[in-house]
Amino acid sequence: MNFKNITVAGSGVLGSQIAYQIAFKGFHVFVYDINDEALASAKERIMKLKQNYQEDLGATKEDVDTAYNRISFNSNLSKAVQDADLVIEAIPEVVQIKTDFYKELGKVSPEKTIFASNSSTLLPSQFAEATGRPKKFLALHFANEIWKNNTAEIMKHPGTDMNVFDEVIEFAKAIGMVALPLYKEQPGYILNSLLVPLLDAAQMLLLKEVSDVETIDKTWMVATGAPQGPFAILDVVGITTAYNITLAKAEATGDQDYKKLAELLKTEYIDKGKLGRATGEGFYTYPNPTFMKSDFLEG
Ligand code: NAD
Repeated sequence: MNFKNITVAGSGVLGSQIAYQIAFKGFHVFVYDINDEALASAKERIMKLKQNYQEDLGATKEDVDTAYNRISFNSNLSKAVQDADLVIEAIPEVVQIKTDFYKELGKVSPEKTIFASNSSTLLPSQFAEATGRPKKFLALHFANEIWKNNTAEIMKHPGTDMNVFDEVIEFAKAIGMVALPLYKEQPGYILNSLLVPLLDAAQMLLLKEVSDVETIDKTWMVATGAPQGPFAILDVVGITTAYNITLAKAEATGDQDYKKLAELLKTEYIDKGKLGRATGEGFYTYPNPTFMKSDFLEG
């Protein structure tokens, strides 16, 4: 892996985290965003990350300052990518915005530059043509709170060059990620292909009054050895996100169960301020939820 200069395009929630993680691991990073105002917000966001790296990873003040100083900010795309080995795109999840961006990026980038998309729900084949270099394009998907949740799902589209795929896997490892290769395109990658059906199934058991939150989680925990069950996971995801996803499915499919589930999440949780772990209550009450109690898995 010969990457030296990395550009992160889009410096919102994920772009800021990706840029800082890469800088923390010793690479020079260029951050590109549409204007100076967006870049000013990115600087603030990245400054705040220093504290997370100190608290969660035990990094020293010198470590976090040195990492910050490896980042340059630029709102001129040509300049931000002029010597980039890799551009990681983390701009809004809107097909037209991404398509326009890739068309422009393809024009202004050096021939050597590889492009990777952090998109959560859009597939790389949707943009391969727009990049003008489909062989050098793939998905590189990170999780929120990248410094702790250090998965990197690396996904080919049918036209991605295998050497490019392997190089990006090596890069992901070099920046402290657990590299998870996907050899074929898959909506939701590996994680959400596993997690979404589990969370859906748990919520349907609750909706249909087959059992209660604690029993459903306990079943999963005892039977598989998992440290938490689906409702504990939903509390971390946040009930609002769960509600939005369920509502979108209800609208897309017309499925009455999804409609009822969305109503349940709204009336029993969201309207009562039970939004999940972030607000201290969701399916469980925090900081000491019952599933963490020593006797939860007994009897
Ligand atoms: P965000 O809204 O926080 O940030 C988007 C950034 O892109 C903003 O800084 C905005 O100014 C900038 N932007 C807008 N138009 C642009 C353009 N044409 N060119 C360059 N920059 C532009 O979004 P986010 O949550 O960071 O998500 C970004 C991408 O990362 C999406 O594809 C999303 O699916 C993916 N993602 C998000 C998460 C998450 O938890 N938020 C997790 C994994 C992946």
